[in-house]
Amino acid sequence: MKIILLGPPGAGKGTQAKFISEKYFIPHISTGDIFRKNISEKTPLGIEAKKYLDEGKLVPDEVTINIMKNRLGMDDCKNGFLLDGFPRTVTQAKALDLFLNGIDQQIDKVLLIDVPKGLIFDRMTGRRVCPSCGASYHIKFNPPKIEGKCDVCNSDIVQRKDDTQSTVKDRLDVYDKQTEPLIGYYKSQGVLSIVNGTGEINEVFQNVKNILKDIHR
Ligand code: ADP
Ligand code: AMP
Repeated sequence: MKIILLGPPGAGKGTQAKFISEKYFIPHISTGDIFRKNISEKTPLGIEAKKYLDEGKLVPDEVTINIMKNRLGMDDCKNGFLLDGFPRTVTQAKALDLFLNGIDQQIDKVLLIDVPKGLIFDRMTGRRVCPSCGASYHIKFNPPKIEGKCDVCNSDIVQRKDDTQSTVKDRLDVYDKQTEPLIGYYKSQGVLSIVNGTGEINEVFQNVKNILKDIHR
């Protein structure tokens, strides 16, 4: 299964990706996670990407596309993958199509997680993440068992630098201008399905499974 998760930042892509990846045994590939790992390891890519992430802007297409071609060429992607946060521009989507055509493959489904703007802001500003293991929480909707501590590894959880109020606004503007056009792009390919993302995390996953049951082989 080759799946793309589309939707504004904070819609719940990463949260659903974890469940989808476990249920359907496909690797969860998040460009945001790849950039953050490189930033924490201070690699040349991390040093380049940091300035864009800090400002809520997109990392340039050439850089992002190269990383993804590399990642999708790895062995664990042979039987499918789940993309979270990529593509984010029409240029990236076209590059992905070209890459997949070249290996005689195609995207099975694009899931657009649909959440009204009013909910997004609360989801993003309340998000907390574990800097050690990457687990993600929400102070109200998905709190850890012990306040401020990661359930998985007991590290202190933190707010992402780009989840503060001013950057969130910029990131939502970037989504509207650069990523939203992908909805039309994938609709015209006939692979887009809209997931109601407003319910609780489990309810949203149920909606996802209802859509994927038709294509899961
Ligand atoms: P994205 O990957 O799309 O940026 P996340 O999956 O990180 O979004 O979710 C953003 C925040 O919203 C996280 O704190 C997460 O725990 C919370 N969240 C995700 N899905 C839901 C939901 N259905 N209801 C309430 N909160 C949610
Ligand atoms: P995310 O974790 O998906 O919210 O992404 C965090 C940040 O990483 C974004 O605000 C961008 O700066 C960068 N990023 C992630 N994915 C992409 C992409 N496909 N293209 C460009 N920049 C990206």
